[in-house]
This record gives sequence, structure tokens and C-alpha cells, in this order.
Amino acid sequence: MPFVQVAYRHSSTGQPSGLTPADVWQVAQRIRVQIREERLNRCLPVEVVIDRLTEIEVNGLQFEASWDLEHPVKNAAGKPVMGVTEYDVACPRCVMVSVNGPMLADAETLLRSTIAHEIGHVVFDAPGWLLTPPARPVFSSFSLSPKTRDPRELRANEFMGALLAPPSLLKVDLQRQAKRQRMPAAVRPSRVISGASAYDGRKLDRDAVEEIIFNLAESYGVSESFMRVRLDRYDLLRTGDSWDAR
Ligand SMILES: [Zn+2]
Repeated sequence: MPFVQVAYRHSSTGQPSGLTPADVWQVAQRIRVQIREERLNRCLPVEVVIDRLTEIEVNGLQFEASWDLEHPVKNAAGKPVMGVTEYDVACPRCVMVSVNGPMLADAETLLRSTIAHEIGHVVFDAPGWLLTPPARPVFSSFSLSPKTRDPRELRANEFMGALLAPPSLLKVDLQRQAKRQRMPAAVRPSRVISGASAYDGRKLDRDAVEEIIFNLAESYGVSESFMRVRLDRYDLLRTGDSWDAR
């Protein structure tokens, strides 16, 4: 299978440099194009994603990602976490991604978002580890407390969001749903996604808005709170609420 290839603005040590959220979304879009089976499928199948993302080339640097979904995962402090991406110089050209399969066995949407988040670390953090091998094994983990200010975590979250719910698809689907519900678009279009209509959820029927969020979440295979965050980040549906990160 060919390498999944992606490139972005970076420093000589492989660190992402000056990437805006839109840049991160574009990287996610490039990867999505290379791993999806069916162009129009909204929901990324977990098995296909990890099967396809084993050999990757980031900014010209080729390496392997090995996945483990079978075992419980803990962070450095011994606390259970949903996923972790690790690098150890003992295996200089590979990155290990462990996802807490046992913990997420009955939570498919959370499993999908954890995998997408970890891919964010593989794409944006692993190149730096490969180019400047750390003295000790390093890792980034994904836990249930999403309130983080760590730029690497925020970036992995943005990547996750756009990989699973790309703005280009979401704007079309939202518009379609809104039409069905006879919802008028807001006067001011999205400030974030050029050319996209936005909707003012505060002026619309609450139940109808909730139904749209539910339908979109279902078709993309993510949770409703995940979908609310995406609609908010892309300024497609304005609700005036401040949503939690996932
Ligand atoms: Zn993380």
C-alpha cells in the first residue's frame, strides 16, 4: 500500500510552524482523501483508518505507525486514558499508538474520535520526535478531561474534528438539513468557511436545531457534543452556547 502523504509548514526540527486551525483542517482533509473508502461516506470506518495509516510520510519523512487497540492504556501517572501515542528511540522509524479498546468497547463514537486525535499526534508531533530523538520515551495521551491549553493537544483536537467532520462536507449537509426543516439562513454567512451559509440557532426552533445536530452526529459517527463543537468552530450554526471540547 502506498504511504499516506502529507505536508505542512514546519521548522528544520520538524515542528509545525505557525499553523492556523484552517491549516490543520486542510491537513486532515488531505489525509481523509487518502484513507476513505467511499468518497461520499460521512462516517470513517475505524478499521479502515488504522489499516490504512500504518505507513505515513510527513513533510518527506517516512515512518511507520503501529496500532494496538487490545489493551488498557494508562498515562505516566498510572491513570487510565483513552489513547496514547509514543516514541522510543529503540524503534527510531516508528510511532506506537495505543487506544484503550477495552475502555471504549461500547463507545464507538469515542473510539473513533480517540483514534482521530491520536493520528493528530502522529502527523504533527512524531516528525519532531524522529528528527530530534528524545532522551527518554515520550508520549501524548488523550483523557476524558478535555480542558487543555497544551498547544499539541489543541492541535490534535482540531485535527480530529476536521478529519471526522470536514467543513466542506458539513456545510453541505447542514444546508440540506436546514432546507428540510425550512430554516432560513442567517444574513451573515460563516465567518470561518468561505461561501458557506450560517444559521442562527437562537432564532430557530430549539427542537428542530437539536434534531439537525442529532442527524449530523449520527451520519458522521460522532457524538452530539462533538458535532456541536464542529458547527461552532466552522461558524455554521450559531447557538450562543459555549460547548465543551468534545
Ligand atoms: Zn493528545
